[in-house]
Amino acid sequence: MTIKAFTRPFTQQEPISQEAIDAAIDVLKSGRLHRYNTVENELSEVSLLEQEYAAYQGSKYCLACASGGYAMSVALKASGLKLGESVLTNAFTLAPVPGAISNAGGASLFIEITKDLVLDLDDLSKKASESGARFLLISHMRGHLVDMDSLMEIVSDNNLILIEDCAHTMGAQWKKQKSGNFGLAGCFSTQTYKHLNSGEGGFLTSDDEDFMARAIIYSGSYMFYERHGAAPKPEAFADIRLQTPNYSGRMDNLRAAILRPQLTNLEKNINRWNERYQLVESELKGAKGIEVPVRFEEERYVGSSIQFRIPGITEAEAELFIEKNKQLGVELKWFGNDNPSGFTSNHKSWKYVRQQQLNQSDEILSSLFDLRLPLTFSLEDCSHLSEIIVDCAKKFL
Ligand SMILES: *Cc1c(COP(=O)(O)O)cnc(C)c1O
Repeated sequence: MTIKAFTRPFTQQEPISQEAIDAAIDVLKSGRLHRYNTVENELSEVSLLEQEYAAYQGSKYCLACASGGYAMSVALKASGLKLGESVLTNAFTLAPVPGAISNAGGASLFIEITKDLVLDLDDLSKKASESGARFLLISHMRGHLVDMDSLMEIVSDNNLILIEDCAHTMGAQWKKQKSGNFGLAGCFSTQTYKHLNSGEGGFLTSDDEDFMARAIIYSGSYMFYERHGAAPKPEAFADIRLQTPNYSGRMDNLRAAILRPQLTNLEKNINRWNERYQLVESELKGAKGIEVPVRFEEERYVGSSIQFRIPGITEAEAELFIEKNKQLGVELKWFGNDNPSGFTSNHKSWKYVRQQQLNQSDEILSSLFDLRLPLTFSLEDCSHLSEIIVDCAKKFL
């Protein structure tokens, strides 16, 4: 029996709702797109969004900014990273992470990952103590949370300043604690392929007053920090405002206007993603030769994408496997490729970072495949694409 080809695009998100479009039109009609362009007693769309995101996140403060990558680099600067200092981070992540470290003047020190796609905590302990690094920018890559209890022990034993990259864990939790609330700061993205879509955009959240005051000034607040929606009190800026440079990276009212209604639907969408994830996961898990990362009971994840491994697959076979899937309309990404392509690259192609030996991660990445599960896919679509993947994998087993 030949399988019918899959025809839905993997990069198609749902349309922006009418409510969000109406809100955007109101902003356009007002002409007040800049976040500090307000009339008397008006809180801008951006400030309202900051309040609403802080409430959702359960953090004291929230800064809306230009992108997730921007949030990470400002977080590192605002937490006192010095030029050339090491920042521990995952060997498996997306290019904006080492990019943000570099942008903030730091040097990425990569930690191996496990086959469940989370930080290898033994390698973290070892490299944290050997290097004496002060910073850990953990990337919850593709939404996989490490055992956060054990992680926090290592963070505390080594006095690490923890910043979380939550580009794929907006809405995720470990034992009911939101991802992003474990360390000094959480960084989020509202770029089209994440959990909220404003094209580009990001959030930085924290409970730390001094840190957030610095981050707000860095973000390009001029002396308008009092107009922020979820900011420390004005006194917190007394010295900071004159000692902190302006690295313009603000969010505008248009983006905020389309994000606010989306935030209201986030929990509902998380459930819709997880239905799709669990369906594909169960189909792939049942197939011989395919391994799906094991998740913790304590984890509430957001299954906006899924990863699986075919252990032992060679490079030539992996390329063939991807090609066969592609012929049937299933777009897989492969992190084992030394040639970066599209959004996908690995540590070997980040040549501006000191090259590091990461044999364990390389081996895992060489057999790792990844696909998006946009909400435009129905559950039937998810069964269909799983069937194609399982069928293509049979040829290598
Ligand atoms: C998308 C992404 C980011 C950064 O997001 P941008 O808003 O595009 O800068 C950071 N980390 C990971 C893992 C991502 O996938």
